[in-house]
Formats: sequence, C-alpha cells, structure tokens
Amino acid sequence: MDKKRKISIIGSTGSIGTQALEVIEKLGDKFEIIALAGGNNTELLKQQAEKFKPKYIYAAKPIAVDGISTLTNLDEIAENKDNDIILVACSGKIGLKPTLKAIENGIDIALANKETLVMAGDIVMKKAKDYGVNIIPVDSEHCAIHQCIKNISQVSKLIITASGGPFLHKTIDDIKNATVEQTLKHPRWNMGRKITVDSATLMNKGLEIIEAHHLFGFDYDDIEVVVHPQSIVHSAIEYIDGSVIAQIGLPSMHIPIQYAITYPERYEGIKSKSFSFSEIARLDFEKPDFEKFPTVKLAYKAGKTGGTATVCLNAANEEAVFAFLAGKIKLYRIYEITKAIYDNHKVINNPTIDEIFEVDENIRQLTKEYIDRLA
Ligand code: MG
Repeated sequence: MDKKRKISIIGSTGSIGTQALEVIEKLGDKFEIIALAGGNNTELLKQQAEKFKPKYIYAAKPIAVDGISTLTNLDEIAENKDNDIILVACSGKIGLKPTLKAIENGIDIALANKETLVMAGDIVMKKAKDYGVNIIPVDSEHCAIHQCIKNISQVSKLIITASGGPFLHKTIDDIKNATVEQTLKHPRWNMGRKITVDSATLMNKGLEIIEAHHLFGFDYDDIEVVVHPQSIVHSAIEYIDGSVIAQIGLPSMHIPIQYAITYPERYEGIKSKSFSFSEIARLDFEKPDFEKFPTVKLAYKAGKTGGTATVCLNAANEEAVFAFLAGKIKLYRIYEITKAIYDNHKVINNPTIDEIFEVDENIRQLTKEYIDRLA
C-alpha cells in the first residue's frame, strides 16, 4: 500500500477484532486507525484506545479516554469518509446497518459478520455493486474462495470445508447429552461462544453456505460442503475444466484477517512457522452426516427459499443457542426449536431492511416464548 490505509474496526474487543489489532500492530506503519468500536468490554476497549490511539471510540456503555473523541452511534463511523476500509467484526445483527451505511459512503468492507449477509445478502450485495464497493470476506472459508477465484465465470462449484466440530465422530446420544463445556471445546479454532456452538451443531456451515451464495453469486446446488477435520484446506473451487484450486494453510485467523484488510497487497504476517506438507501427516475428507447434523439441510432449504427465510433461520437459531448457553435447553434442541419456528414462518419475498429487522425481532420473541413453554 503506497500510503497508510485508514481503517475502523466495529467489534474491536471480540475474537476477530483483537486478532485484527495484532495484525495491524505487526504491520506497523501500514495502517492508521480512525475508530474502534466495542461492546460491553469497555476496559479492553480503553486499553486498545490508549495503545492504538484511534481518532474516535464508540462503546455500548459510555466511556472516556483522554484525547480521543467518543461517538454516540456506529453510523458515525460508517459515515466517516476518511475510512478506506471498515472491518465489521462484531457478531449479531448490529453489524448490518453500519455496513449498509459504509457502502453508501463508498467505503470498502472487510466482512467478518455473518448476519449481514444471512439476513440481508441480496440488499447488501446489490448496494455494494451499485456503489462500486469491495466486500472482502474474513470468514476463513470465504476468504479462501476469494483467494482461489481468478475468473469467476469459469468456476463451476464452490467447495466449503468444515472441521466437523467437537462431535464429528460422536454418536447421536453423545450429542444429545453434550454439556456446554464439551460444546465450547472446539478442536481447531478458538472463537466466540455463539459461533463455537454453531460449529458444534454445524449450523455455522449452514450460515456459511448462505454467505457464499451471496458473496460469490452461486446457486445453492453448486455449493458443496465437505468435512475436513484437520482444517488445513480452508475451502476450494472447481473450474469448468475440472481443475480444483484450494487455499491451504495452518489454521489461524490472522491470515484471513490480514488478507481482507490489506487486499490486494500481501505482507509478511504473523505466523508461528512456515507451512510444511511433510509435517502434516494426512488430510482427511468425508461427507457431512446430515442425520447427525440436520442443521445444514435446513440452511440449504432456507437459502433456496430466500426472502426472510434466512432471517428466521438465523434469529431462531441464535435465540436457541443463547438458551443452550444459559443452561435452559440441551444441545440437540437447538435444531428442533429452530426447525419448529422455521416451519411456521410465513416468508416475505424481497423484504426491505425494516421488514428484515421486524421479522428478526418477531422470530426472537416467538423463539423465546417457545423455549419458555418447553421448560
Ligand atoms: Mg468460517
């Protein structure tokens, strides 16, 4: 990059946000931080602000740091045209509106927030096209695909890999009786709690299929999921001539984060060691077991249905995950509850943003009531 790239991070205190700051620190003078926005971990946000000296900070609870202006809402970040790029690293629907606003202001997006595309992929991608804005995926699978694609019109299939989570080769009974602690022990990736539960049920892969559909414009029938427990192949694409290109590397989120925020440049990054095929004894691949992990099928169904179907899927699943984390329901109930709510949802086609948020609220309420009735 010829000049310093001006960046803001929405969700700087989360798993992706903190790793992004490690990348920015490693890259030294490549970045200037315009704003950092955090949620409730105001202590960490303060430390980050003191260390990285952004111009602005935003926190869910009011805080003050000497010499740094405090913002009152996230839109102020998204509207600041000083930004070259905004990393949307928060989790949940809070990422959607600032992303749309940033696109309208011609600011590129490094996107780590799944809900943005799952809830409003059609609107977001159309807007990005209209405003000529790049959306570079941070999610490791989509980042892998982004790196593999040279000429998208010659790509026939996307192949998304899944680690399979902590219950890959466990029985259905093991999954039924899984504790929160067992569920949060992901074998390969260290992530936030919600996404770790989604990885255990494979709903994370379901949401990623929907993300991939929007990001790359592929039909759901041309997006395949393969289980690959070692998490070395981060995803692949097949060209019409049968050639398959995969992106491979040690599992570390620093790599996709750095790729997304420095694109199209590459720099020496944070890595513990150089990649060695001979040190990796084997790479395994297998078909996902849709009987044990039915969430993926439901996500394909919601994706193909479109409209608010994916909004419903996302909201019902998230509320059920929260109930599981709070000890209110067992792990396998997450799918049952999500499916029950999904089956009753009357889909709105081509929803507006307001309708999307309305459905989201409504589904969350219905899901909570449903869970309360189970207790
Ligand atoms: Mg992923």
